[in-house]
Amino acid sequence: MRIGILGGGQLGRMLALAGYPLGLSFRFLDPSPEACAGEVGELFPGSFDDEATLTRFAQGLDLITYEFENVPVAAARFLEGLLPLYPPPKALEVAQDRLLEKRFFRGLGVPTPPFHPVEGLPDLEEGLKRVGLPALLKTRRGGYDGKGQALVRAPEEAEAAFRALGGKGLILEGLVPFDRELSLLAVRGTTGEVAFYPLVENRHQGGILRLSLAPAPGASAALWKKAEGYARRALEALDYVGVLALELFQVGEELLFNEMAPRVHNSGHWTIEGAETSQFQNHLRALLGLPLGSTAPRGYSAMVNLIGLRPDFREVLKVPGAHLHWYGKAVRLGRKVGHITLRRDRPEELHEALLPLLKLAAS
Ligand code: AMP
Repeated sequence: MRIGILGGGQLGRMLALAGYPLGLSFRFLDPSPEACAGEVGELFPGSFDDEATLTRFAQGLDLITYEFENVPVAAARFLEGLLPLYPPPKALEVAQDRLLEKRFFRGLGVPTPPFHPVEGLPDLEEGLKRVGLPALLKTRRGGYDGKGQALVRAPEEAEAAFRALGGKGLILEGLVPFDRELSLLAVRGTTGEVAFYPLVENRHQGGILRLSLAPAPGASAALWKKAEGYARRALEALDYVGVLALELFQVGEELLFNEMAPRVHNSGHWTIEGAETSQFQNHLRALLGLPLGSTAPRGYSAMVNLIGLRPDFREVLKVPGAHLHWYGKAVRLGRKVGHITLRRDRPEELHEALLPLLKLAAS
């Protein structure tokens, strides 16, 4: 089986590495001839917007998936006419628009932060009344890792934020005083089989994920069940196939939906060594209609992102239980270039061993 992946970044690279034991091979479509997945599979450089390119890309493939959520929906729908393509383009459509996404989850009965669409100044005023302050003004489309958003603390800050973000296509959200950020990775196969990874705690800095702890320390069984219930509703409503990530805010025993990613996710990288079956292999199993692998954790894991720096590999690897993943990308400020997973049998052993790794990853 030859699998086509839209996008040739580290997620594509790790999908391929997980697929080789199953005898799969891979081709990546990416506008950049430098895309790092090209080191582990056939790189097909080209644009997502050109049907002739998409047609040539699809030739000789059995199945198509994607590794980033800004794949143009039109490209996904076009390719879906040629070959099986998962996750369904509808999931891309929802994930690409923060307003559609929040309405979709509200429609499923999943709580979200308060929000209001902003297409002009009157909406902004109305939104400030409904949502309250402080609030976050965000672009509906195109934002990631905290980009395309502005904090509004006082009414007089609102208009400048509104203008800076383009004055339309925006969403105003109440700033949630959350206890912590969590994510849940779910996977659903073509057969309808569903599995969930444990809830994960995520810590961000400057809008970028820095650290994941899996399973999320101290999360109650009831909280896990709640998150799984929310994910199950989304999987079924979308007739979803593949891995789906939900990002959530925990407030007491409440969970508020923030956003979803219809793909394998950074907060699931720990599963390579820290779960019975990695998110990457389970994504592929789901697409192929194979039995899903166990999502059970192997002890306690932490995942530390390497952002804009290359640590001394020797220093990383001398920490017992540390696993280094270097993506083969050029190091640039703010760019995710690798990650480290630390795995231990007991949680109390994890935190002390993590300290030197956090230092090595600190920019
Ligand atoms: P996003 O790109 O929407 O995931 O936002 C990036 C980060 O901003 C999130 O991981 C949160 O830390 C923070 N954030 C986003 N929306 C909210 C909100 N409504 N309330 C509080 N913090 C938020």
